[in-house]
Amino acid sequence: MSEGAAGAVNIVGAGLAGALLALLLARRGRSVILYERRADPRQSQPERGRSINLGLAARGMRALELAGTMPRVRPLLIAMRGRMIHERSGASTLHRYGQREHEVIWSVGRADLNRVLIEEAARHPGVSVRFNQLCLGADAAAGRLRIRDQSAGRDYEVALEPTIATDGAGSALRASLASAGLLRAREEWLDHDYKELTLSAPAARGILDRQALHIWPRGGFMLIALPNTDGSFTATLFLARSGPVSFAALTSSRQVGEFFSREFADVVPLLPDLTAQFAAHPQGQLGTVHCAPWHIGGQLLLLGDAAHAIVPFHGQGMNAALEDCTLVDELLGQEHDWAALFAEVERVRRPNTEAIARMALENYAEMRDAVLDARFVRLRKLALELERRFPERFIPRYSMVMFHPEIPYAEALRRGAVQARLLEELDPGADGAVDAALAERLINERLSAL
Ligand SMILES: Cc1cc2nc3c(=O)[nH]c(=O)nc-3n(C[C@H](O)[C@H](O)[C@H](O)COP(=O)(O)OP(=O)(O)OC[C@H]3O[C@@H](n4cnc5c(N)ncnc54)[C@H](O)[C@@H]3O)c2cc1C
Repeated sequence: MSEGAAGAVNIVGAGLAGALLALLLARRGRSVILYERRADPRQSQPERGRSINLGLAARGMRALELAGTMPRVRPLLIAMRGRMIHERSGASTLHRYGQREHEVIWSVGRADLNRVLIEEAARHPGVSVRFNQLCLGADAAAGRLRIRDQSAGRDYEVALEPTIATDGAGSALRASLASAGLLRAREEWLDHDYKELTLSAPAARGILDRQALHIWPRGGFMLIALPNTDGSFTATLFLARSGPVSFAALTSSRQVGEFFSREFADVVPLLPDLTAQFAAHPQGQLGTVHCAPWHIGGQLLLLGDAAHAIVPFHGQGMNAALEDCTLVDELLGQEHDWAALFAEVERVRRPNTEAIARMALENYAEMRDAVLDARFVRLRKLALELERRFPERFIPRYSMVMFHPEIPYAEALRRGAVQARLLEELDPGADGAVDAALAERLINERLSAL
């Protein structure tokens, strides 16, 4: 397998996927140079404007376990058993994510997780991490990777092959290859943006359950909050960019205060500095990246958000990016050459990341709206009941995505559609009972054993 002029694999972007991948490659005996535009997080404050905490689920956990990082990651995690739904009236109800004890999602701080992964990668003798190195793009015809050393203020080039681009949703490498006509990339922006606000530990103590993901669904928009290990919560407001109820309509402190008092009255006491935070924190954009191909021969492969960024409503972007890394690791064990390995990663992963992109968009409507709907709640209960009775064949789609890494995303999407039709047919209505014999017959006919 050729490894470029320096005999090393270049990884561009030491985010969640890049840092983990560097470690996995090194554990397979490869030498890796990891280029990162940011300063060393061990010596500096985390970048502002990125989501502060993330939901880690089984796919991500599996990848972290594979790399041997769990002993360092586990202390960073807080179990969230379900969604705590907060209604306008102030009433709240916990909807469990799954029905088994281990079916929980973990809240983890992005900066802490990234720092641990960088430390673990940097500790491996096979990995050299270079900070303050901004990748400018690639020249595939000349086989060069262009980099700016931001500390020294000079640009330089290295041999491109093989490079793995994990430089995130706004990937400079994806852009440079697209402008050279080597791939097609489409970014679909959502017309809703997000803003993060911190609910301080003293304010939230005893008020918000620390073992839940909190949601204030309000139809066209929502607020969510995930717990942090220091007792605080990170809340995120998802709201239309423009229109009568939108970020554009919240330009003064008075408008912000009134909006929160009207829509999220129970959160207001947890945010004494609401208007200051609202004015100071950035408003982020959300979108889906569709890109093909993901690789240029054996020269370069896009991975993680660089290849397939998605909206965050299924809490799967990081999980999918980490799952990409487990496939690269598995294929490395089979000694492909780089071109074959890159092609195989794209062949296996692209249908799956397209599937999770779709499910993530669908989940926005579910989180901000459907969770309050009596029929949605009834069908969700029925789905859990069918899973209890037919665990080999019926697993709610949400659980397949979050708790069953052995079921690929595309298969979860396919089976989920069959199951949705089944639930419609079996829906007993507000006070009816499920026809158990019919349920058994339809499930056996339509869903193969897993
Ligand atoms: C509001 C929000 C909430 C989210 N919640 C969840 C969640 O709950 N669960 C979940 O699984 N996912 C979630 N995600 C998605 C998750 O953040 C991403 O999918 C994940 O960060 C992707 O990892 P990555 O390594 O591909 O990219 P990133 O984490 O973005 O890392 C990219 C790295 O490349 C570096 N870089 C960028 N450009 C260059 C360059 N030109 N040269 C050198 N280095 C460069 C960056 O500094 C960064 O270190 C959320 C996203 C958002 C926006």
